Amino acid sequence: MARVRPKALLIDLTRCVGCRECVSACLIEHHLPTDPDSVDRLSAGALTALAEKDGIYVRQMCRHCLEPSCVSVCPVEAFQKTPAGPVVYDASRCMGCRYCMQACPFGVPTYEWDKAVPAVVKCDFCAERQARGEPTACAEACPFEATTFGDREEMIAEAHRRIAESPDAYHPHVYGERELGGTSMLFLSPVPFEQLDFPAFGDQPLPELTARALEKIPGILSIGGAMLAGIWWITHRREEVARAEAAERSALRQEKHDDHA
Ligand code: SF4
Ligand code: SF4
Ligand code: SF4
Repeated sequence: MARVRPKALLIDLTRCVGCRECVSACLIEHHLPTDPDSVDRLSAGALTALAEKDGIYVRQMCRHCLEPSCVSVCPVEAFQKTPAGPVVYDASRCMGCRYCMQACPFGVPTYEWDKAVPAVVKCDFCAERQARGEPTACAEACPFEATTFGDREEMIAEAHRRIAESPDAYHPHVYGERELGGTSMLFLSPVPFEQLDFPAFGDQPLPELTARALEKIPGILSIGGAMLAGIWWITHRREEVARAEAAERSALRQEKHDDHA
């Protein structure tokens, strides 16, 4: 059987003009009604965002880590890493514990707080398009090849080729090639990445972060933790968890009201 060649996006900040075509294409692809001009951070209504810092435009989205913490902490395998690169999410498995949000080192997953039965939301690396042999919607839409899609190995080679050809134009580092064991989103920048608030990570994956996130579970589940755990074991259904949380919040509000009465 042919080996699956993992894919990646190469995002070259020296080429990005902030036109937001990538944001618009992503919103259309995922049927999200958000105004693309308003998207400067990730939310349940936007899987990619564009922020500007010192005249440099920086895209944000899930990095599709090669060794993703979100996958390792999810107790019900709602998150899965696919061989082609996308880290995908199955809302029908999700119990709503939000460990993934705590564990992600890039602060990516968001939550549909305003929905009765919320789900986790994040970029899916256009997994369905990739399965059809198509590039991601954002890469296809970018008029300046600031976002390009291809085999990860080729994207890394292309990034180093650009640095070698124009050393004055680039900070000599491909962010995502090795950080945390590597990611599917690779960045080139004209300035050191710290100046753009990219986290400074080592090359090691983060099993220790996973462990820390798990240690936080009692904190995460401070509202009715025992009740939630029981429901998870019995049903594995986030609908039940959402209802239990709502009931608990309501009880707490009533308690506070009674205290003040
Ligand atoms: S960036 Fe966060 S949500 Fe995306 S794969 Fe990595 S750990 Fe998971
Ligand atoms: S890869 Fe797909 S889901 Fe992710 S930002 Fe690009 S268009 Fe959006
Ligand atoms: S479409 Fe390309 S140039 Fe326009 S904002 Fe997105 S990455 Fe930058």
